[in-house]
Amino acid sequence: MPNLIRTFCKILNHLQAQYDVWSKMIYPPGRPFPPSRLDVRFEVGTSGYVKSKHKIVLYIPPGNIEDFDKRVGQVIKRLDRWILCGGEIELLHEMMHERQYKEQPRVSDDVRCLYKNYADQFSGPGHDEEFFSAIVASTPSLGISPVDLIKNT
Ligand SMILES: [Zn+2]
Repeated sequence: MPNLIRTFCKILNHLQAQYDVWSKMIYPPGRPFPPSRLDVRFEVGTSGYVKSKHKIVLYIPPGNIEDFDKRVGQVIKRLDRWILCGGEIELLHEMMHERQYKEQPRVSDDVRCLYKNYADQFSGPGHDEEFFSAIVASTPSLGISPVDLIKNT
């Protein structure tokens, strides 16, 4: 049991470090809103951004804990290559929802075009034009194209 708790703590620390690094990369200095709280649950569930509580809830099913073995201690910066594990991909996806709801980025004609083409990549509520705007606003500093992020998260 102590080993499992230690593993959980390592994963929590890793995801928090990853959130902090990506936040610094995607927002200009003087981030426009305070960071969200990460609420990581080691069980099966649907991850999400909870607007009313300013938190990102990430579910890590027991079968995915081993995914982090090689990841812990290696915070990813630029995403030139896709080497993220499932939990990190979900974190990045929920960070796009965080930006969508907190910043409400402007929807440009380019974003509308992107949305028309790729709206069916996502299911469930919240994947609207503002979500795509958050992706377009965030990807330049992450080193990937919006389409790569849309197709991989
Ligand atoms: Zn989503």
